[in-house]
Amino acid sequence: MTAVVTRFAPSPTGRLHLGHAYAALQAHDHGRAAGGRFLLRIEDIDGTRSREEHVAGIVEDLAWLGLAWDGPVLRQSTRLAAYRAALAALRERGLLYACFCTRADIAASASAPHHGPDGLVYPGTCRHLPAADTAARIAAGVPHAWRLAVDRAVAAAGPLDWHDAIAGRQRADPGAFGDVVLARKDAPASYHLAVTIDDAAQGITDVVRGRDLMRATDIHRLLQALLGLPTPRYRHHPLLLGPDGTRLAKRNGAPALADLRAAGEDGRALAAALRDGRLPIGFMVASAYL
Ligand code: GLU
Repeated sequence: MTAVVTRFAPSPTGRLHLGHAYAALQAHDHGRAAGGRFLLRIEDIDGTRSREEHVAGIVEDLAWLGLAWDGPVLRQSTRLAAYRAALAALRERGLLYACFCTRADIAASASAPHHGPDGLVYPGTCRHLPAADTAARIAAGVPHAWRLAVDRAVAAAGPLDWHDAIAGRQRADPGAFGDVVLARKDAPASYHLAVTIDDAAQGITDVVRGRDLMRATDIHRLLQALLGLPTPRYRHHPLLLGPDGTRLAKRNGAPALADLRAAGEDGRALAAALRDGRLPIGFMVASAYL
């Protein structure tokens, strides 16, 4: 059996908070308990929101918690050639189309707005542009995203399932997302494409991450099938909830690890408490199926 490899893959768009600490511990401990490896990947392809100071902050915060990772840190900003190659392969198979819509266009053109797991489902406006029109706009340098024609992709891949260690067998329903963006106007790859390619490139055997990403795995499973990549095992852990009963985030008072450290807290003691389910007053772990 292949040795277990897990990862923690934060986006450096802010300081880590208690929820990130919980997620990092879950991934770390799952790997280490199996005698396996634990990797750190920085998901920094979003050039408008990623900040160098947050990369340094993540490294500092994880060290403070007493977490060590194996090998060099992988930065998605160094992986653009791999994303480009995958996009080219999908485009050649006729599974992508260019989309020139702005957010406002999308909101305005959805006559009966339909919501999927990621928000508004794209109504397909640019799918129906004449090919010559699309080519002319691209040649003229009009900013565009690349979307997956999800019905064609699903037809090419056939029925797909995957396994979650907590929730069991899952039938993938990538169609629920509509035609997802794989390359953004302002970023060379979307989260869905980059995470799928890098989990395979890093040999991740067990993706341990929060339950908020459960349905995203349906898209990742589809991309694995289309790109000929292996499917890891998945474990979507319950999320930490804030005092207001909603998912922990900065806005509902999730304490930044940096602030706890500045207040003199001991990171290793905090990690031990989180492992034992001893949470600061008011915080709780969601029931698995919330
Ligand atoms: N980078 C993603 C985030 O910060 C997580 C990616 C993943 O674990 O698949 O939410």
